[in-house]
Amino acid sequence: MKTKRTALLVIGAGPYGIATAAYAKYLGVPVTVVGKTLDFWKTNMPRGMFLRSGPDWHLDARDVATFQAYFKIHGLTPAQVKPVPLDMFLDYASWFMGQYDLTPHPALITHLARSNGIYTATLDDGSQLRADKVVLSLGFAWFKQYPSELTNNLPAGSYTHTCDMVDFEFLRGKRVLIVGGRQSAFEWAALIREKGADEIHIAHRHPTPQFTEPDWSWVQPMVRETLEDHGWWRRSTDEEKEKIRKDFWAVGRLTLEAWLGPRVHQANIHIHENTEIVATRTLSDGTYEISLDDKTTIHVHHIILATGYLPNLQNVAFLDRTTILRDLQTLNGFSRARYGLSNNSAQPVCHWPCCCAGFWALFWIHRRLSRGGENHWGSSGQKLLAPEPWQIRELPPAAELRRPWFLKLLSVCFRRFP
Ligand SMILES: Cc1cc2nc3c(=O)[nH]c(=O)nc-3n(C[C@H](O)[C@H](O)[C@H](O)COP(=O)(O)OP(=O)(O)OC[C@H]3O[C@@H](n4cnc5c(N)ncnc54)[C@H](O)[C@@H]3O)c2cc1C
Repeated sequence: MKTKRTALLVIGAGPYGIATAAYAKYLGVPVTVVGKTLDFWKTNMPRGMFLRSGPDWHLDARDVATFQAYFKIHGLTPAQVKPVPLDMFLDYASWFMGQYDLTPHPALITHLARSNGIYTATLDDGSQLRADKVVLSLGFAWFKQYPSELTNNLPAGSYTHTCDMVDFEFLRGKRVLIVGGRQSAFEWAALIREKGADEIHIAHRHPTPQFTEPDWSWVQPMVRETLEDHGWWRRSTDEEKEKIRKDFWAVGRLTLEAWLGPRVHQANIHIHENTEIVATRTLSDGTYEISLDDKTTIHVHHIILATGYLPNLQNVAFLDRTTILRDLQTLNGFSRARYGLSNNSAQPVCHWPCCCAGFWALFWIHRRLSRGGENHWGSSGQKLLAPEPWQIRELPPAAELRRPWFLKLLSVCFRRFP
């Protein structure tokens, strides 16, 4: 079996995988990216979707190959592309990869194990890779959430998660129930209606969020503080932490994008707030009768669960149970990362299964490389092809890590979970 060697293996070729790899490459770190390029964005998001993140969100930690730079080439202004269409984001991301000459290896890792400080990844094309460090940038796809209190009430085969329901053609002329009350529930409703669905119901057990322009400006000072003082969050009191969580929740989860309002306020979209499903029945024609606790009964052809994602590292089937997962410390399913991802010094797998991934991965690389003399990369003693990272003299100024890009990473992290 062919086995290649790399200093840094990035698993996943979504926005954060490629952003991490680009920055590592810029720093001279030999990096290999394995994953299907942007496949979550291509196959698990619906065509016609708009991004919640704005044009100031971009992939380049160096602030060079930004969305704005891309706009300039295309003769556009940020104001003209707000909200950003999905296809434009995909085009920007491929342009960005071209700028850094990044070509992810389009395969899937089927097994990742660690032995004597070295990681061995087995790929589904039969090859193997050995790496000193691994960054997991796996996004959400491993973490679809199916709340049991809901699914226990639904007939088998009656529902699909939004992650797997992105082609709305077959819903033309049909009636649909969407369970969930955040951005994806409402954006799916708008897109499904525009594709010709007959009737759409959106049910959620909380009040319907407001359609409004969110204000994330208060996040920037916190991100700055994180970069200057890595321990501030840990030192914050429980009350301070709780307040920040609530502020993120309020902006990210208790609002819907203002541009979505007119598309949702339509005669055939019915919103059932503060309701739960109490009973369901499959009718003889194969449709479903759903009873809500506000005494409404609706009849639909299909149910869509806009119930978000819930991180749980145990779901990631390719991580070796004995050499990786057993020792990985987690908190609520997340890797319990210390400053900059590595969750303990003997176990430098990095994981942050959401939008923060890019931020923390780049921050981590920056910190590692900034610590002159520490051998974090060539620990096997084997000579790497590129100069050892601690020999790199010209590190990017800290200011480069303080761009609005990171703010968006942090902010979007809090908004897709139910
Ligand atoms: C409906 C929806 C709308 C969203 N809108 C926004 C938005 O407007 N702005 C925003 O910032 N975020 C948005 N997000 C969040 C966004 O999807 C994630 O933040 C982002 O994709 C995370 O990037 P990533 O690179 O970590 O993962 P992903 O983009 O999910 O990429 C994961 C990568 O991992 C690879 N992979 C998985 N398993 C393996 C394996 N075994 N071997 C190799 N590779 C593997 C995949 O092939 C893929 O390349 C949205 C999410 C959803 C669901």
